Amino acid sequence: MYAEVVVDIPSESARRIFHYSIPMELEGRVKVGSAVLVPFGTRELTGYVVGFTQTPDVAHVKDIRALSGDTTLSDQMMALAAWISNYYVCSLGEAIAQMFPTSIRRGRARVKTESIVKLAIPYEEAEALIASMENRAPRQTQALRAILSKGPVMSRRHLNNAVGSTSGAVRALINKGILTETRREVLRSPLKKISKTQKPAPVLTPEQDKAVKTIIESLDQVSPKPFLLHGVTASGKTEVYMRVIEAVLARGESAIVLVPEISLTPQMTRSFCQRFGRNVAVLHSKLSSGERFDEWRRAERGDAKIVVGARSAVFAPVRNLGFIVVDEEHENSYKQEESPRYHARDVACERARISNAVCVLGSATPSVESYHRALRGEYNLLELPHRVEMWEMPTVEVVDMREELAEGNRSMFSRALSQAISDSLDRGEQVILFLNRRGYSTFVLCRECGYSMRCPECDVALTYHAAGSSIRCHYCDHEEPVPLVCPSCGSRYIRYFGAGTQKIEGEVKRVFPRARTVRMDTDTTRRKGAHETIVGKFKKGEYDILVGTQMVAKGLDFPNVTLVGVISADTCLNLPDYKAGERTFQLLTQVAGRAGRGEKGGHVVVQTYSPEHYAIELGETYDYKGFFDEEISCRNEGMYPPFSRLILVVVSGKNLRVVEKYSTALVRTLQAKVRSVKEWKSIRILGPAPCALARVRGMHRWQILLKVDPCITPHDHNKLIEEMLEACPPPSYDIIIQVDIDPESML
Ligand SMILES: [Zn+2]
Ligand SMILES: [Zn+2]
Repeated sequence: MYAEVVVDIPSESARRIFHYSIPMELEGRVKVGSAVLVPFGTRELTGYVVGFTQTPDVAHVKDIRALSGDTTLSDQMMALAAWISNYYVCSLGEAIAQMFPTSIRRGRARVKTESIVKLAIPYEEAEALIASMENRAPRQTQALRAILSKGPVMSRRHLNNAVGSTSGAVRALINKGILTETRREVLRSPLKKISKTQKPAPVLTPEQDKAVKTIIESLDQVSPKPFLLHGVTASGKTEVYMRVIEAVLARGESAIVLVPEISLTPQMTRSFCQRFGRNVAVLHSKLSSGERFDEWRRAERGDAKIVVGARSAVFAPVRNLGFIVVDEEHENSYKQEESPRYHARDVACERARISNAVCVLGSATPSVESYHRALRGEYNLLELPHRVEMWEMPTVEVVDMREELAEGNRSMFSRALSQAISDSLDRGEQVILFLNRRGYSTFVLCRECGYSMRCPECDVALTYHAAGSSIRCHYCDHEEPVPLVCPSCGSRYIRYFGAGTQKIEGEVKRVFPRARTVRMDTDTTRRKGAHETIVGKFKKGEYDILVGTQMVAKGLDFPNVTLVGVISADTCLNLPDYKAGERTFQLLTQVAGRAGRGEKGGHVVVQTYSPEHYAIELGETYDYKGFFDEEISCRNEGMYPPFSRLILVVVSGKNLRVVEKYSTALVRTLQAKVRSVKEWKSIRILGPAPCALARVRGMHRWQILLKVDPCITPHDHNKLIEEMLEACPPPSYDIIIQVDIDPESML
């Protein structure tokens, strides 16, 4: 028997299956789903066993060198890997690799152990020994006493500490056969200090109660439909998840709770640990690789039946999965931006389907795709329309920045926002000022009338290119010169637009010199723990004003924050992305969720040049359904998801001409392919065009966008991409092609 092995390397050969023989000592231990170390050319790589065969395809078959970690993926996980490989157009090796922690993938899985000592003679004998050794060997006697009172098993380190720093005494006792030494595993745990508390669970509202009951009932169904839990901010979704988890545990099943990385705060994990104690394992990128490995194994062995984690926790190796939650399902951090470019929400739904588990997608602002699926009956819709504590939703005030300019105020802050900030400071309350992180100053906006330059074909914002002083659509490559006067009102105040957090922080310090201001963005939170430090200090009241990006909008709970200011909703509204409207609506809702989390109520000020845009008008009144209706008709018109599946092909390379020429060749190939197959005729091909971020780290980037009818199966889109690459391979090694199915970000 020979093992069929796939390897995890990002190249064409990674798609092949390789044959290896199984050495004697591994016979019976190598299984389908095992991670193994194999010789590969001159290197040693980690590979994954996908099957067995009698007939190898080469004459000289090499041996598998070793197992990497003593673990095997279940058939269900192997089926999930096959689905990912097919849907996201990646190799099976890449897909399987996602399901193992990095330490196994790199062949460096190490179990941490410690030395323990045990009394090897009867108690009475030991006591007799103490009496006889007392004078001759005082340290050994001391060690014996310690193990008699605390033992009979102790870690060697503890015993050494008990007798002072030398280890000679303990060694002597081991040599004499009075103590025996063995090793045992030590778990590297990120949750050491948190324990279960007896705090009673809160009483459910009737809405929560109904949601909990409906979900629990579906645990008994065969292939239950996913649920979309649409609950306003602070409506108690987490409590709903926890109640269902209690029922899941009672059935002897496990649960996975996915949370966006940024909301996975200590606060969040603590609440799960306090309810479920050591039954919780956490998995996220801030753990050390040892901690991650150990938490992963606790889940695999069934020692932890609940895994709380970020995106990759969707692959947690829990046994007997009954329930998966994807909280804040609309969050784009669930999409992995490197190959395999999977979306954890869709993987969660597929894993639940394969495992016959219940999947719940929760959000205050569901993605348009998910809500559309719920309305079509593909998901069950559950709603929590009220806040738990009956705190009122904060009032939202939209300020028209065009009027500010007309009345001579050219500052970043409208009069309304300035006034609100000083009022809050006077009352000793706190303020959050919010700026969209991806507010690159790359779109062109008229500050007098709010007109922004958009592509007439694709209805996305045109991107400003300083070099050619032109603006360009990066979906279809439509290009025009930057207008000198506004095409709508004739004003000369039309120019590219944007400001960074640093600039705003400076302005805040200038206008409110006595306020204590802190900035939170990717710059100030790069250091490990910096994020928590800023949040902690702000919560304790050591700062008055927090200036920040996306990361302040998520999951944080500050009872003393009564004012949130959105400096410019336009930076979000004018992202060169068909989802800009959706992102803006989500942003306003999330931001408003930060204000008024206490009894003092809250106020939100949103500054914009486009107050009449539906995402802002409907965001002002938290009208999700109204927003959805507007947005879905735009999507339909532009043939954007959910009315199509998007496939983004990005070509990058050092030489701009080569990139451009190759992208053009790819488009020609695609056009010919699409014409030749009847089922593919409906596919629309846009581009090639420079990406919105046209140059990243010296690499020029061009893109091709396909709009694919959702009726076309993943198998078929996979085939189209493979045929394209076969017919038109990259002209040189430094050309990189990325294929992104259902892209979340098209910058
Ligand atoms: Zn204008
Ligand atoms: Zn266009």
